Amino acid sequence: MLLILGCGESGFGAALLAHKQKLPVFVSDQTIIKDEFKQMFIDLEIDFEEGGHEIAYDILPTLVIKSPGIPDNAKIIKHFAEKNIELISEIEFAYRYCKGKIIAITGSNGKTTTTNLCYHMLHTNGYHVAKVGNVGYSFARSLALTDHDYYVLELSSFQLDTISEFRPDVAIIINITPDHLDRYDYIFENYIKSKFRITLNQKSEDLLILNSNDQTIRKYLGIVPINAKVDWLEVRLNEEEDVIVNNERLFFKNSGLKGNHNAFNAGCAARAAHFMGLGYKEIQKSIDSFVNDPHRLELVETLNGVSYINDSKATNVDSVYWALDAMKGKVIWIAGGQDKGNDYSQLQSLVKSKVKALVALGVDNGKLLEAFSELVPVFDTHDMASAVAQSKKLAEDGDAVLLSPACASFDLFNNYMQRGDLFKEEVLKMKLI
Ligand code: ADP
Repeated sequence: MLLILGCGESGFGAALLAHKQKLPVFVSDQTIIKDEFKQMFIDLEIDFEEGGHEIAYDILPTLVIKSPGIPDNAKIIKHFAEKNIELISEIEFAYRYCKGKIIAITGSNGKTTTTNLCYHMLHTNGYHVAKVGNVGYSFARSLALTDHDYYVLELSSFQLDTISEFRPDVAIIINITPDHLDRYDYIFENYIKSKFRITLNQKSEDLLILNSNDQTIRKYLGIVPINAKVDWLEVRLNEEEDVIVNNERLFFKNSGLKGNHNAFNAGCAARAAHFMGLGYKEIQKSIDSFVNDPHRLELVETLNGVSYINDSKATNVDSVYWALDAMKGKVIWIAGGQDKGNDYSQLQSLVKSKVKALVALGVDNGKLLEAFSELVPVFDTHDMASAVAQSKKLAEDGDAVLLSPACASFDLFNNYMQRGDLFKEEVLKMKLI
């Protein structure tokens, strides 16, 4: 019997795949399972429990597939670990049934953008490819529905923690900056190790793409054994907004992708797609036609010469660094929210050179005020309407108003999407006046 713990997208996908493989399976979730998933279980005669793990404790499974949201120190996980029962992630489980080629992408920032880029490059050029992992369907659900020749997989550190045989043809580590340390005993090295697990089973014919400007990656290279061909990538836009990737020139002037970080993401995607046989001419066309997901340096509107940019997905300091780096003119910077132990020192010189004023937006803006009030004028706001109105007063022709919060959104909003949508709403209201 196979036991699935946690029934979000990944647990649901694992259950469908197990059913397709005719494996006996039981699903157990501590919370209430989505109606749509439950209906499918009833239709397929898959047994499940919700609101607790009561039945699960009495099962002696051959294999446990655990949701990435359940920490290792959860009681139910310890229970099976003590019995020496194999515990794996949905990614590992799905991998065991995957016949296609895999491009796996991890990093602290830029995963979704790079995954989308890579998928777009392959898909628009006729590859039979699926985009899975944290974006769209889980890997397992996608496999349960149909087989593809290629998979572009976005992976978090949590998903990598419980792989054992997973071996991607191409692995990408975009960058590593401190994040999610609460899940790693507050030890940065544990988190780094987890990211490097992406290459754990790669062999010499596989490719590992790494960021040559990332000092953490350089310092910890070798933290796990590396057998793959390592491809160090360095991407820096020049005046003409083009870059060289493996002796090929890629142009960004006509693309919606702004900034060195996005050029780097595109460089990673280009190398991976090229490894899968795609030519650079086709890659360039895909870069030109690429439209990123919202909330990532998304230009909302230009009003009276001021561009309003929504980067609500920037929930840590590093992503804000690259957002400011990408700005050509002066910036009215809206930031703040739930602090994740941020160290703002990394931003000081960019703030000095690019930021005209900081509009702090959060329940408690104390830390931001302390970090920046000696460098630039700082305004204290506690709702989106006031933050945008204040920014409008400060902005002049040629400036940008940039929402790039460096913090989680949960103090004032449901999530980063709601925060970004409210920003857009306030900006569009000004258009109507
Ligand atoms: P993730 O899936 O890793 O959270 P996203 O592509 O959703 O990454 O982007 C999250 C935030 O990080 C956005 O604000 C985006 O502008 C920024 N970002 C994107 N790529 C990079 C990168 N290579 N380095 C740093 N920040 C990045």
